[in-house]
Order: sequence, then structure tokens, then C-alpha cells
Amino acid sequence: MKKKTIALIAHDNKKHEIIQWAITNKETLSKFDLCGTGTTAKLVSEATGLEVKRYLSGPLGGDQQIGAKVAEGKIDIVIFFWDPLQTQPHDPDVKALLRIAVVYDIPIATNKATADYVIHSKLI
Ligand code: PGA
Repeated sequence: MKKKTIALIAHDNKKHEIIQWAITNKETLSKFDLCGTGTTAKLVSEATGLEVKRYLSGPLGGDQQIGAKVAEGKIDIVIFFWDPLQTQPHDPDVKALLRIAVVYDIPIATNKATADYVIHSKLI
């Protein structure tokens, strides 16, 4: 069976959290193809040693690239730790990604608790 693809995205105040989460779940994540927005992908890859395909940084269009891959059916799960306490210059892109994940009915975890449920789900 084809490997599923997980996209990883975290806003700056959430980068630490996604790195810790990725380290904790490294073994499980190693069973997937991984990709992410520029900085998140780089940091997760450095921290875990896993290969993470890098799209552009979020504010420069990375969220839109990932949204496009969701629409093409090439991304199966999104882990997106967005920052609820700070406005982002690319807020419309953030909303667009959340929207497209719902349109295509793919799991999109927007906090650690949900990410834990998703990654350990039998449905995966
Ligand atoms: P980054 O983008 O991983 O390149 O920082 C994330 C974002 O801000 O959407």
C-alpha cells in the first residue's frame, strides 16, 4: 500500500511544540512521507533526522502550496499548529488551508492533543 503523506506546519510561537511532538513520535512519523512549510520542515528534519520535503515558508506561499497538494489528493493528513494568540501576515492563506482540508475531508490537527489522536488512530 502506498505510504500516506503528512504535512507539518507550525507558526513561530508553535515551532518548539511541533519539534517536541515530532521527536516524541519519530518512529511513527518515519512510516510516512513527510513534507512541510519551509522553516517547520527544516527544523523538524534537523531535530529528528527524518526526511521532510520542504515547500516555501508559510508567509511566502507555503500554506498555499500545501493546500494545492491537498486538493490534488497528494497530502493525506495535515498537522498544523497555528498560533491563536498572534495575527499572521498570511492569515488568508491559513484560512484557505483550513478550508481546503475540510472540503477534501482530510484530518487536520490544529493542536497537540488532536495530533496525538490522529497519529495513533487505527483509521490511519
Ligand atoms: P514556516 O511557515 O514553517 O516556513 O515558518 C509556517 C507558517 O507560518 O505558516
